[in-house]
Amino acid sequence: MIHFKSKLPKTATTIFTVMSKLAADHNAINLSQGFPDYDAPAELTGLVSKYMEQGKNQYAPMAGVPLLRERVCEKVQDLYGTYYDPETEITITAGGTQAIFTAIAATVQAGDEVIVFEPAYDSYAPTVKLFGGLVKPFELSPPDYKIDWQMVRKLISSRTKMIILNSPQNPTGVILDEEDIKQLIAITRGTDILILSDEVYEHLIYDGKEHLSMARFPELSERSFITCSFGKLFHTTGWKIGYCLAPKELMNEFKKVHQFLVFSVNTPMQYAIADFLSNKGYYHELSSYFQSKRDYFRSMMSATRFNLLPCYGSYFQNAEIRHLTEEKDTDFVKRLTTEFGVAAIPTSAFYNKGTDYGVIRFCFAKKEETLEKAVNLLTKV
Ligand code: GLN
Repeated sequence: MIHFKSKLPKTATTIFTVMSKLAADHNAINLSQGFPDYDAPAELTGLVSKYMEQGKNQYAPMAGVPLLRERVCEKVQDLYGTYYDPETEITITAGGTQAIFTAIAATVQAGDEVIVFEPAYDSYAPTVKLFGGLVKPFELSPPDYKIDWQMVRKLISSRTKMIILNSPQNPTGVILDEEDIKQLIAITRGTDILILSDEVYEHLIYDGKEHLSMARFPELSERSFITCSFGKLFHTTGWKIGYCLAPKELMNEFKKVHQFLVFSVNTPMQYAIADFLSNKGYYHELSSYFQSKRDYFRSMMSATRFNLLPCYGSYFQNAEIRHLTEEKDTDFVKRLTTEFGVAAIPTSAFYNKGTDYGVIRFCFAKKEETLEKAVNLLTKV
């Protein structure tokens, strides 16, 4: 028997894998893991075939196909008015999660403290721990998940290396506002604190609100890694392609890790995305596309006994369940899947301590008929 010490003794299989498997095993409608059940634009998939047939099948340059980096540069400039140099400040990654991992791996050292706002996407904390970092969780609570910046200040020490932000936030659907940005600038001014800003839901923001990317604010962008996802943009989560933006010095460190983690990202899809991105209208229309899904889902859900929390962004709708059950949220979602036929995500999975506020998350990036069938089943709860 070989003995070895686990590097992540407390980490179990991610909740997204657990719930998607449970949904598949019980033939339930899967509103758990966040992914669309409809296809990417046909023009985009056609372009992938085209570039494969054209022989774009060998390694891409390490940081990504140059044309795609240029298109990302144009997109960021178009949306946020900031220029990132395609040569030195943009890297194409194998999805948002790899970008997040790489930014942490490249910067966090043993004993460094990293502030994480919870509920948080489940990759942040284990990745920080893997590199000897200490996670300083800052718990946010329903219904508004507002950040109390005075309390955040108390968490900051000389060992604070990084603050991880995620707006629009998974799982809550809340977004950072102008006041949050002001506070963030004030807190980080004059320090060497880095920001890892997970902005994969940047285009999924509703009711006329604007996404406050770190890229918009020079005092924040100078210290930020910004991670983004083409999966969310093109309904292609399975392609696992995203990108990272950072100032040159930070990006240089990022690339040192990226080159040995994945070396480069699959080539024909990068060409296809670069080609497709010349159509700027596409990403400008995405928020109204998802907003109508949100509104449709919310209006149907009013026929159920679930209490819906606000959703300002992302493709997640959260619902309170305390009045429906005494069970833990993890047990409730299992029963919801096996007895009622709809899978959801328990938000306790997004807290370091497993804090259970009795809130579960539904993904509404689904066809209307899927949402209708799901809500029909949920009315029986
Ligand atoms: N980001 C997606 C979600 O929150 C899933 C990511 C994953 O499965 N790794 O559901």
